[in-house]
Amino acid sequence: MHFQILLATSNAGKLRDFTGAAAPFGITIASIPNFSSLPQVVEDGATFEENARKKAESYSLAVSGELVLADDSGLEIDALGGAPGVYSARYAADEPHTAEGNTDDEANNARVLRELKSVLEQKRTARFICVLAVARDGQTVHTFRGAAEGVILDTPKGKNGFGYDPLFYFPQIGKSFAELSAEEKAQYSHRGAAFRSFLAWFRTT
Ligand code: IMP
Repeated sequence: MHFQILLATSNAGKLRDFTGAAAPFGITIASIPNFSSLPQVVEDGATFEENARKKAESYSLAVSGELVLADDSGLEIDALGGAPGVYSARYAADEPHTAEGNTDDEANNARVLRELKSVLEQKRTARFICVLAVARDGQTVHTFRGAAEGVILDTPKGKNGFGYDPLFYFPQIGKSFAELSAEEKAQYSHRGAAFRSFLAWFRTT
């Protein structure tokens, strides 16, 4: 049996992570058809769960009868009181981009490094959180949560991944998330963990 799950995202990094996590189970992850032409959901929830539900419910209305999966995720840094949290994607949005061609990811990472400048290594603990919501016809059916615990580096390391991956050191295997292969990221990441919970549920439905 082969299944396809529709993912509500335009984030290529997330799509790659989910594709990697699903491949061993004979499940294809595809973007919702014409996703970029659908009205964008405003992610103004106070929690990852609220935003994930909002996205899954809204985008599932575009594909009647299908299960739609949405991810809301981010980085919580203890020394910053849990920031950037639900603002992870747009943490540096209000700052002028200094160098031309800077990506949002680079600007976000630069802000985190600046804010942690005088924070010692043992106080730089952080975690990635991923909440997945599954919805059908505008109703959330289930949510799943995954986390990965790490430490924020003082310089970026590694070339893979996206977002804050180059700053996120994962002591369990002694690498930053940007040094992981797709298979390793699926195995160790917050997204992989949430996705495995989703799969366990999906198999029983
Ligand atoms: P959203 O879930 O689309 O609101 O955005 C999540 C943001 O959190 C991303 O744009 C990244 O900045 C960050 N993030 C979430 N998951 C990861 C990850 O696996 N690696 C690196 N950054 C991540």
